[in-house]
Amino acid sequence: MKTARRIAALPPYLFAEIDRKVSERKAAGVDVISFGVGDPDLPTPGHIVEELARAAYDASTHQYPSYFGLPGFRQAIADFYARRFGVTLDPGTQVLPLIGSKEGIAHLPWAFVDPGDPVLVTEPGYPVYEVGTILAGGEPVHIPLRAEDGWFPRLETVDGAVADRAKILWLGYPANPTAAVASLEQLEQAVRFAADHEVLLAHDNAYSEITYDGFVAPSVLQVPGAVDTAVEFGSLSKIYNMTGWRIGWVVGNPEAIEALGRVKTNIDSGIFNAIQRAGMAALNGGMDHLPALLATYQRRRDRIMEVFWDAGWKVDAPKGALYVWLPTPAGESSVDFTARLLDDAGVVVAPGSGYGPSGEGYIRLSLTISDDRLEEGCERVRKALVGG
Ligand code: PLP
Repeated sequence: MKTARRIAALPPYLFAEIDRKVSERKAAGVDVISFGVGDPDLPTPGHIVEELARAAYDASTHQYPSYFGLPGFRQAIADFYARRFGVTLDPGTQVLPLIGSKEGIAHLPWAFVDPGDPVLVTEPGYPVYEVGTILAGGEPVHIPLRAEDGWFPRLETVDGAVADRAKILWLGYPANPTAAVASLEQLEQAVRFAADHEVLLAHDNAYSEITYDGFVAPSVLQVPGAVDTAVEFGSLSKIYNMTGWRIGWVVGNPEAIEALGRVKTNIDSGIFNAIQRAGMAALNGGMDHLPALLATYQRRRDRIMEVFWDAGWKVDAPKGALYVWLPTPAGESSVDFTARLLDDAGVVVAPGSGYGPSGEGYIRLSLTISDDRLEEGCERVRKALVGG
């Protein structure tokens, strides 16, 4: 058997060593507490589940869905953009439902990237920006993000000739893993850069509603003219605790949407109609659950920050997404600090280097852990860092 070269080209799975150690610790009887994955622990709001049940009993949902999604779901996404961002979208040409935003992020390069084409990948970032590029035969060109820039790229430092050849610029705020947020002015810079270099700006807004301390995340499509050069990914996963349902969308530039749609019609057959009907119930039903959800995450964030602040860390609490992103102690690599927290506290965190080379020297803790496990984990980390 001979696997493809593109598989060998995928970045190494940096969590493999951590996974091995976790299994080892568990086998040794350690009660391991995981701050590793960003997967909401709280349930999907009841009215959405009820709509799924109702729709699943309606046999008309049992056949292949339309490739382009239910008109009602596309309209619900457009209505959400109008209400939330003041952005008008044509549900016929500027909205495409996805089987989770990850699916569209992974497939977009198939519509834009020919073998060898550069793709500008901001890192540390969601790993699928890079992996999708590699699977399509493209060449990821890293744009390093730095703490001193608020984890926003210095686009003026990107080689102009490379940018001119590049097909896509990947950007995502509120960000995984850095938990950074971006202002509309910053997104405007990215739109200008994309227009100047004729690159598709792919903005990942999967955490659009998950923000703290009063920060309200913008959409890239609020930038005047952005629709000429940008698409934006969104998702019900984090907003409505629906990661397992696999439902999201891409909106924006109609040519890009059409091109991605063409790829998808050849690969998948859309989203189960009952899930789309539940998605309509979610978006049309508003976001009454959100204040309590955000209060829970903010409380958890503050508890984690308290532990690290008390241990001497001098960093601000993050303003968005489901993570706390922290530097490792001086001289300790991401993987070493991760291993130390596992050995000394029985706590799993994600090493920053798993999200790109510029994530070296950082760890990521997820806020999607139940309050009692979080408390126990925080207490153990506190003891490991300051003793007592
Ligand atoms: N974008 C970012 C930044 C993420 O962190 C994730 C998931 O963790 C996704 C997209 C994919 O979300 P989904 O496919 O569930 O919509």
